[in-house]
Amino acid sequence: MNKLLVANWKMNNVVLDCVRFMEEFVPKFTAKREAWVAPQALHFNLVRHMGEQKDIKAGVQNVSHELFGAFTGETSPKSLRAMGGHFAIIGHSERRQFFGETSKTCSLKIRTCIREGIVPVYCVGETLAERESKQTMSIVGDQLLQGLNDVGSINPENLVIAYEPVWAIGTGKTASPAQAQEVHAFIRTVLKEKFPGIGAKIRILYGGSVKPDNVEELLSQKDIDGGLVGGASLKAKDFLALCGDK
Ligand code: PEP
Repeated sequence: MNKLLVANWKMNNVVLDCVRFMEEFVPKFTAKREAWVAPQALHFNLVRHMGEQKDIKAGVQNVSHELFGAFTGETSPKSLRAMGGHFAIIGHSERRQFFGETSKTCSLKIRTCIREGIVPVYCVGETLAERESKQTMSIVGDQLLQGLNDVGSINPENLVIAYEPVWAIGTGKTASPAQAQEVHAFIRTVLKEKFPGIGAKIRILYGGSVKPDNVEELLSQKDIDGGLVGGASLKAKDFLALCGDK
């Protein structure tokens, strides 16, 4: 499985920052690993356009579960697809924390995205309190089963899962490779049960303070197929290093 690095720029980078990033990143990117970028929705088409010569896919950080209608402020997966969008991050912990997103609402978005040809990058992960009370697997298992409840039949490339322990996001604390692998192995088992014959091939990304100095060890773990990256994806040099282009 080719390793995949997804940049989550969150609400950072004005348009000039996006242009400068892509001008530096694209010529040096050699596609050793796959790179996808999720800028603010406003900048999605610019990034898509600047990255297409190297097949760098662009996507968004959130999407509606509806296709059309009176949903002020939302982005339709159909419109995203029509503009050449490839993926949507769904259920990021910041959306769960600040915008009331639940695994149930995620399931509606995931279902709609898959039908419309948008790849959901579905985020799951436990808080520190949940880890300390040994609930990691039950929390992650519930998030997976609820979020993927209504997916139907899929191909492995229609879906990406991102395991992001909440306590490791933007904190500088990374799960150790062994800690991450333990949860990834559990997620793999759930996916294999839910999607027989396919679950083994669905990519599972790790997210939480992935940086150039820890990426290789994380990506060498058996069930870690790539990374979902916040902070270290904002600098072209760092994101190049994560993509294996020093
Ligand atoms: C994220 O926001 O998805 C993330 C993993 O952030 P960071 O890499 O900064 O921890």
